[in-house]
This record gives sequence, structure tokens and C-alpha cells, in this order.
Amino acid sequence: MKIKTASFVVSNSDVTKCPNSQLPEYAFIGRSNVGKSSLINMLTGRKNLAKVSGKPGKTRLINHFLINQNWHLVDLPGYGYARVSKKEKKTFQKYITAYFEKRQQLVNTFILIDSRLDPQPIDLEFLEWMGLNGVPFSIVFTKADKLKPKALESNIATYKAKLMETWEVLPPYFVTSSSNQTGREDVLNYIEDINSKLK
Ligand code: GDP
Repeated sequence: MKIKTASFVVSNSDVTKCPNSQLPEYAFIGRSNVGKSSLINMLTGRKNLAKVSGKPGKTRLINHFLINQNWHLVDLPGYGYARVSKKEKKTFQKYITAYFEKRQQLVNTFILIDSRLDPQPIDLEFLEWMGLNGVPFSIVFTKADKLKPKALESNIATYKAKLMETWEVLPPYFVTSSSNQTGREDVLNYIEDINSKLK
């Protein structure tokens, strides 16, 4: 897919205030600092569409972007920051849960996983929650450039083995790097393919 246009639409913390349109929607979520903003900028070919922040947890809103006038890219807040109060965590969980439960336009969620790390409980819990709630998702391994090919392969194999403990079928997954554009075409073509089937 060629990205012709990409523009910010709206940010909010209330699913009922998300754009009132029937365009298919693709959400991106992951632990803070996983590389989500960088990935969104890499995919859209825009340097500053999503804010790459040094301070994890700065963006706690549901951010809608309109791509090629025919689909929405949704940047969801990162989860799992250490320095957030219990109350804040609860509020955050509430509106993200509401987004997944109520947003009819949501076609697929890309869950970002840092390819350098062993499977993290917080990510595994989130994957399980998505599965239990029947929310379709794919996995995007990030920062692939930071590992040597052998180590990358081994980490992904470890992840797959971990998932196979609880899942009968593995979700689709992508290996990406925002530094060298690895996986860009794969993710965009995946979205394009689904969009064409929806028509
Ligand atoms: P977010 O908090 O998930 O939005 O993560 P950011 O996109 O802000 O990235 C967190 C940090 O990881 C930043 O310092 C980025 O420059 C770095 N980063 C993100 N993606 C990559 C990548 O693919 N390769 C490398 N080497 N660094 C990355």
C-alpha cells in the first residue's frame, strides 16, 4: 500500500467520542517505550505523526489518524508504566477496555512486542485478555535491528513456543524495525488486503 495522505483527526479518552465514521480501523498498542510512535511514523512515512517521546506514558489518549481517506490508524496509550498511580491505571484500563468492547469499526489490533525481550507477563496477560474477549489481533515484533539475525530468530521462536502453551493457532505476526523499515510493506499490505476484502 502506498501512503498518499496521513493526518491527525482527534484525541480523546471516551470511545463514544471517537470519529463517527464507518471507515475500518486498525489500532496499535504495546508497553510504553516498545517503539509504537516510531513504528507509526515509519509505516506512514511521516516523521512526527505520532510523538516519539523520551518520557514513557505521556500519551494516554486514543488518537485517531486518517490514512489515504479510507482507513483510520489508532494510536492507543502504552500500558505498563511503573510510575502511574493505581487510580490512574484504573481509569486508563476502563477506557481502553471500553474501546475494545464497543468500537465496531475496529478491524484489527497490532500488539507491539519488543523483540529483544523474553516474553513479559504484562504482554502475555494482555494477549490473553484480547483472546478471551474475541478481539482480533496480530503481533508486531519491534526493534529487530537491535539484534543479530540468529538472536532475533531465537527470540521469536521462544515467543512462539510460549504462545503455543495457551493458543491453538498462532496469530499473524510481523518482524519490524523503524530504523531500517523492516516489515513496513508486510504490515501495510496486510492492512490493504483486509481493507479490500471488506469492500
Ligand atoms: P513508544 O513509547 O512505544 O511510542 O516508543 P517510541 O517510538 O517513543 O520509542 C522508544 C525508544 O526506542 C526511542 O528512543 C526510539 O528511538 C527507540 N526505537 C523505537 N523503534 C526503534 C527501532 O526499530 N530500532 C531502534 N534501534 N530503536 C527504536
